[in-house]
Amino acid sequence: MVTFYCPNCWRELKHDAVTCPACGTDISRFWASMSYKKKLIHALGHPEPTTVMRVAWLLGEMKVEKAVPNLICLIDKTTDIYIALEVTRALGKINTPQCRQALAGLTRHPASMIHREAGKILNNNADRT
Ligand SMILES: [Zn+2]
Repeated sequence: MVTFYCPNCWRELKHDAVTCPACGTDISRFWASMSYKKKLIHALGHPEPTTVMRVAWLLGEMKVEKAVPNLICLIDKTTDIYIALEVTRALGKINTPQCRQALAGLTRHPASMIHREAGKILNNNADRT
């Protein structure tokens, strides 16, 4: 079964909800007010980890530079190592100076899966320039 969430406060909703009973958000108006990229960035706050991982992957593939501060913020606060890994890879694909700075910091991440990936990405990106 598909679970529906309020896009504003991420509470669970009935599938036919028009407004969120918790925060009063008009669901369709909320989504209509945003561009596709903005929706993706917003969805980094989604309660389901698999959705967040997919979104991080997409943002990296699409090289959405506007997502970089949100990605960096997410990797700072997530305790999910797989989300952190997908965000690390997204930063590598977007590859702005801010991304490279964040990746350099991630080479000191306590999880070896993350610091090794960050180091590998920085090496690979350096080879390409
Ligand atoms: Zn809500």
